[in-house]
Amino acid sequence: MSLGRHIQVIRTTSPRSFLISVRVTRETLPVQIVPSLVPLYSQKDPPAWEAGWCPFLRREADGLFACTIYPFRPRICREFRCMTMRILDRSGREAGRVKGRASLVSGDPRLVQLWNDAVAPLAGLPEKEFASRCRGILASHGFDVEIFDE
Ligand code: SF4
Repeated sequence: MSLGRHIQVIRTTSPRSFLISVRVTRETLPVQIVPSLVPLYSQKDPPAWEAGWCPFLRREADGLFACTIYPFRPRICREFRCMTMRILDRSGREAGRVKGRASLVSGDPRLVQLWNDAVAPLAGLPEKEFASRCRGILASHGFDVEIFDE
């Protein structure tokens, strides 16, 4: 919804093909509307599309959202992860996900307790120090951490 100023159509090459530019990554790439989504894409007014949104985002009638160029979406969209950290247990299974700085989603009570007691209180530290302390605390209790914004 906030990428409208970064993803811009610079040329229309057919009724459903475009050349777009992505300002933040300086990418220029050809994209096509997914054939089954052409009717949805052609809805260019609220509530299907609002000013400022990415030109290819659409709200469907059921309230869900669709990227109408999904197979062709730019690298910045492919690499987007809606979490900042993934925590794995000793067997390599995902034990938790972290959104933002310190919002843990986990079904592992041991991890939740550890997080609340030892990690969450560090959330005010500078980013690199927080990441390093967090990794050390979790590692000392047998958890491995993937930090995506490090
Ligand atoms: S995923 Fe699709 S709709 Fe979302 S910003 Fe990227 S191109 Fe636009």
